[in-house]
Amino acid sequence: MRRAIASLSLTLILTACAKAPAYDLLLVGGTVIDGTGAPRRTADVAVQGDRLVAIGPDLPRRRAKRIIDVTGQVVAPGFWDSHAHLVTLEDHPLAENLIRQGITTVLAPLHSQDQPFPMDAYQARVRMAPNVGLFAGHTWIRKRVLGLADRAPTTAELDWMRALVDSAMTQGALGLSTGLEYIPATYATTEELIALAEVAARHGGLYVTHLRDEGPDVLASIDEMLTIGRRARLPVQVNHLKVTGARQWGWSERILARLDSARAEGLAVAADIYPYTAYSTYSDLMFPPWALADGPAAFARRVADPDTRARLVREMRNRFPEQAGADATSIQFREVPSDTTLAGRTLADLLAARGRPNTIAEAVEALIALQLAGGFIGIFHGMSRSDVERFLRHEGTMLESDGDLVSFGRGHPHPRSYGAFPRVLGEFVVERGILTLEAAIHRMTARPAAWIGVRDRGTLAVGLKADLTVFDAAQVRDAASYLTPHRWPEGITLVAVNGMIVFRNGTMTGERPGIFLRQPDAKPTPEPM
Ligand SMILES: [Zn+2]
Repeated sequence: MRRAIASLSLTLILTACAKAPAYDLLLVGGTVIDGTGAPRRTADVAVQGDRLVAIGPDLPRRRAKRIIDVTGQVVAPGFWDSHAHLVTLEDHPLAENLIRQGITTVLAPLHSQDQPFPMDAYQARVRMAPNVGLFAGHTWIRKRVLGLADRAPTTAELDWMRALVDSAMTQGALGLSTGLEYIPATYATTEELIALAEVAARHGGLYVTHLRDEGPDVLASIDEMLTIGRRARLPVQVNHLKVTGARQWGWSERILARLDSARAEGLAVAADIYPYTAYSTYSDLMFPPWALADGPAAFARRVADPDTRARLVREMRNRFPEQAGADATSIQFREVPSDTTLAGRTLADLLAARGRPNTIAEAVEALIALQLAGGFIGIFHGMSRSDVERFLRHEGTMLESDGDLVSFGRGHPHPRSYGAFPRVLGEFVVERGILTLEAAIHRMTARPAAWIGVRDRGTLAVGLKADLTVFDAAQVRDAASYLTPHRWPEGITLVAVNGMIVFRNGTMTGERPGIFLRQPDAKPTPEPM
């Protein structure tokens, strides 16, 4: 009897050994925030191959090939960047400036740029660190069929455009994307967009858009998107939701009300935002387009003509609060070829140094003089903080960088390319408490995954793909600024994609385990907002 018991317990021990999981990676002691919005808990996280195989307290360490102690740090699903520009992915397959932000999946609606084509050859060729989702790009399709022509397509041309959307969707595109503020997409009528969106809808895709206008006509632009959603019967998403220009500040409330009432009527509506109140671009933005046509010499001729100059001044005074802030403090110089000492200072500083009052009229005169001297790259503080916060708090919002893939130290990117996600965590969550950490991570992970209809990633749950981001909540912050954009963020300590570590303790591993997301068979499953 005793012998039988001994033999039985030996069997149990052997069975237990055989069943002891062979983890490839075991993260121990972390604070798990699983992406669902559920409260944090202390647990170990085990990975085998590309999957999460166990999450719980005190997982057996014996057969783990690699153990990393993450005590005191947050273990979250890898972040989803709902909108970034990946045109140069083949040159930057590691997507270092996104991975270092904790981003493991990037949605790339190339709404103002060319899309890869044919998409399946591109997908077969490119090996990259993050997972990537592609879209059928309206701009590229329109250029291919109509060039830069400002006209509606003929029936035959529209059929061709629809065939190109269909082809992209068949090759795995997640939907149709548009960039309606840019040439030539801006020439498209709503009817053209509906005709193309119907094709995406047939494949279960989304419609994502850079709105036709983000300033004075933003509400009409939102309405256009909602019309496309209703008529083509597909979910719609605003990329980089914002309202620019001091005259429109506070409109976030009306914009959200409009999105909410569309939701209440049954339309699937979402938006993504980046956490900055400024954009950065050329001084051209402050001038009516006619004034800059045909280059600097033509501009100088117009300024020299008294009548034309008077018209220019009149339009610019009106345009100023539609594009920038209420006064000259809202324009900050980044690069001024004609006077490098101005970098970092504001237009108001320039007026003060010359003994001029800080008025719109004086600001316009100074802008004209600067433009005659070659113009500048500016930082336009054209959004209000309370609008950004109101958008961020809203349940229907996801996060994005709107960033580019950059070469460290080269050029002058917007700091969002380096810091968008750590900035949300560091400034908006930890420092200012706009959102809880659980809510912020939900907007970065499970929400976008559910919105796209991807079911095998986006949360930390056994059986799902092991996309992981580990960070120290007390340290996480963005370091990139408008004047010194080339600064890596801080506090992100480990990033894994499909079970493989791509970044750890300040170093990229060089691994490229990312996959291309395919349009899922399942329809998007937006959560109740
Ligand atoms: Zn855009």
